[in-house]
Amino acid sequence: MPDNKTPVDPAAPAGTSNAKPGLMSLDEALDRLLAAAAQRSITEREEVPTLQALHRVLAEEVRSNLDVPPADNSSMDGYAMRAQDVPVAGTVLPVSQRIPAGVVGAPLAAGSAARIFTGAQIPPGADAVVMQEQCATVEGTSVRVDAVPLPGQWIRRRGEDIAVGSTVLTPGTLLTPQAMGLAASVGRAQLNVLRRPLVALFSTGDELAMPGQPLKPGGIYNSNRFTLTGLLQASGCEVKDLGIVPDQLEATRLALRSAAEGVDLILTSGGVSVGEEDHLKPAMRLEGRLDLWQVAMKPGKPLAFGAVHRPDGSEALFVGMPGNPVSSFVTYLLTVAPLLRALQGRPVRPPAGYQVRADFDWPRPDRRREFLRVRLNDQGGVDLFPNQSSGVLTSTVWADGLVDVPALQPIARGEMVRFVPLSALLG
Ligand code: AMP
Ligand code: MG
Repeated sequence: MPDNKTPVDPAAPAGTSNAKPGLMSLDEALDRLLAAAAQRSITEREEVPTLQALHRVLAEEVRSNLDVPPADNSSMDGYAMRAQDVPVAGTVLPVSQRIPAGVVGAPLAAGSAARIFTGAQIPPGADAVVMQEQCATVEGTSVRVDAVPLPGQWIRRRGEDIAVGSTVLTPGTLLTPQAMGLAASVGRAQLNVLRRPLVALFSTGDELAMPGQPLKPGGIYNSNRFTLTGLLQASGCEVKDLGIVPDQLEATRLALRSAAEGVDLILTSGGVSVGEEDHLKPAMRLEGRLDLWQVAMKPGKPLAFGAVHRPDGSEALFVGMPGNPVSSFVTYLLTVAPLLRALQGRPVRPPAGYQVRADFDWPRPDRRREFLRVRLNDQGGVDLFPNQSSGVLTSTVWADGLVDVPALQPIARGEMVRFVPLSALLG
């Protein structure tokens, strides 16, 4: 039994003594989503050209069967020589050969220098490079070396980046541009990757119109379709776009049934709050199963989670997000993006945030944990977007991160707060 003297904290996780029934902490909602995803993680693989592997999840270990670089080579335009041949600055050596990148030189004749360019192999016998800025040509055939070289200087050693046989990329790696480059540097033209998660997306709402169409009285443009498509692409998903579904029970049931075919997840926006025009709940109960959560977060309280049955007895996961554009954006970042990471078998860690100074006051905190749209300023603090309403999409473009405000905690200008960059929440 709850202690009468303990104030009730509606933001506390459900199941703890002072939780208001029905309100679930974000962490608990996330745990449940991740548990469901872990049972359905994607295992099918495919080969893709390395050039097209951006945002894919690697399904193999990439090992190198060569040293990178494959040979000692010059990191400067200059002259290769034996360091011992230049005991004092101003020594003049005959230039015995010229070695551009891609050309293999001859062994270096004792007492001579080789003209060499960045990336060219060091000729056998040479042990140092002097950059051309410290050399002067003499009568076109010799070089005066104006700095005493140290053995090894300006030489990139064979295998200093990657040794033959070593692992350069591990399974589960999200392929970034630099990972693509690294795979290519060991000669890989193809990579074995997980198939992309396939996500069906639709928006509900009779007020919605598509950009390009005239707006009827009472209408608004369907922005969530664009935001969510972009977010899903950034999460490495393939999107099955089902457009706008009218606020009718039968249409919603039909959309759910066709969405479920072959997809890993059905994602919707709108229609999950408590209004009588919200048909997702009854449709989901007829087509599958649904939990409707009231998550103690702002923006983004209502979150529907369940699964839609397919004719063959299998099911597609379902997440129904709120319709308000900022709510669905933030809800996606904090719940759907981690769910998709788990579906791809990637590690799910709390987003990397850090402490920054709040250059604003937030005197009336919510009873829910709140995520404020803020922007880093040049003074090392963060500014607050003046309108934090869940309908103001402008805030999401202006902001470069969210401040994670614990329930009921006011912020006074100058205090340190937890800042999470939007970039840490994506991908
Ligand atoms: P709902 O969750 O359906 O009650 O919608 C909440 C608010 O979000 C309403 O003001 C809707 O008009 C708006 N909304 C719902 N879906 C979208 C959408 N796809 N794009 C832009 N706004 C939307
Ligand atoms: Mg609606």
